[in-house]
Amino acid sequence: NRVDNPYAGVKAYVNPEWSAKAAAEPGGGAVSNQPTGVWLDRIAAIAGTGGAMGLRAHLDKALAQGAGVIQLVVYDLPGRDCAALASNGELGATDLDKYKTSFIDPIAAILADSKYASLRIVTVDEIDSLPNLVTNVDPRPTATPNCNTMKANGNYQKGIAYALNKLGAIPNVYNYLDVGHHGWLGWDDNLGASADLLAQVAKDSGSMANVHGFITNTANYGATKEPYFTIDDTVNGTSVRQSKWVDWNRYVDETSYALGMRQRLIQAGFDSGIGMLIDTSRNGWGGAGRPTGPGAKTDVDTYVDGGRTDRRIHLGNWCNQAGAGLGERPKAAPQAGIDAYVWIKPPGESDGSSTEIPNDEGKGFDRMCDPTYTGNPRNNNHMSGALPNAPLSGHWFSAQFQELLKNANPPA
Ligand code: BGC
Repeated sequence: NRVDNPYAGVKAYVNPEWSAKAAAEPGGGAVSNQPTGVWLDRIAAIAGTGGAMGLRAHLDKALAQGAGVIQLVVYDLPGRDCAALASNGELGATDLDKYKTSFIDPIAAILADSKYASLRIVTVDEIDSLPNLVTNVDPRPTATPNCNTMKANGNYQKGIAYALNKLGAIPNVYNYLDVGHHGWLGWDDNLGASADLLAQVAKDSGSMANVHGFITNTANYGATKEPYFTIDDTVNGTSVRQSKWVDWNRYVDETSYALGMRQRLIQAGFDSGIGMLIDTSRNGWGGAGRPTGPGAKTDVDTYVDGGRTDRRIHLGNWCNQAGAGLGERPKAAPQAGIDAYVWIKPPGESDGSSTEIPNDEGKGFDRMCDPTYTGNPRNNNHMSGALPNAPLSGHWFSAQFQELLKNANPPA
């Protein structure tokens, strides 16, 4: 008895902890009442870490708010974040049993409590994991040793299969799987292979029906819609696909990507009723530098660079991007095929520290978060574009929140 779109017609849960941090920032009151994702990013988050609310406290509060939907991010796979270091987690590459019994089982037990049966529980399951097994493994030049290890041991697939199974058995849980973003999987060789891998994991574990939809752009910066150019545009007979920015990608923004990926996922075997989510928390790209019309048709690069609202140095940059702004406010059913615009990454929470910071969360230091870094094959050796002085991933980054407010589009 699941509904087609869990966001439709109901109020989404506002996380009071995020809300308080946002409200405490100058101007933050303009957005502090927005719903954001609740991240279960370690075993201790289930009970609540260091005075923070645990899972039951959030669910109880959601009931008290009269919310109809709550958004949880299930994020603690063995060998987590294999292509980067900023969000490495507490579980080692072989800790699959611990993942099952100490993380997924206790979450499932709480979600199955009949007290919460009236809530629609959206779970965003293990972002970044399966796509990494396609794009960041041998023989690609972008391969990392950790992704090679996770591909070889199969623990991402087994962990996700287990989570889909356990969580999917709860009738009011809606599982959404991660499909990266257009600046990652939008190339032909990545898109189809990723869709097929997701389908294979769901199929092999008997979980096809346990997948309600997919999410794009989680914690990333790709624009929802580029208003001033499309993938079909040409300049003097040359396709924009040949510009340095687009670089043969099939998509220029998250909406076109989400809809294209949706079709490919259905082709791979997923239900034709699947819905997409787009994380619009930090992809607004407003502010003084935002173009107000198309670029000049001198050549493809001038045209694309003059008209694109996404002003990253390179599409592969992902950490605390300078110049970014809040994107579309969360909204149900913005168009056919899209279940909602969501703020899964809570704006103001860091993507990673800009220098090494010792910690007990398993978090590493990824130089993509260091503004002086000149890059690696995954961003084609460009500057990182990251803001300086960032704290550990997930920690409050006031300067970034201010930047996001300033550059919000629509304005905050
Ligand atoms: C971090 C998590 C955090 C999440 C939301 C991730 O990058 O690794 O610890 O909960 O961001 O801010």
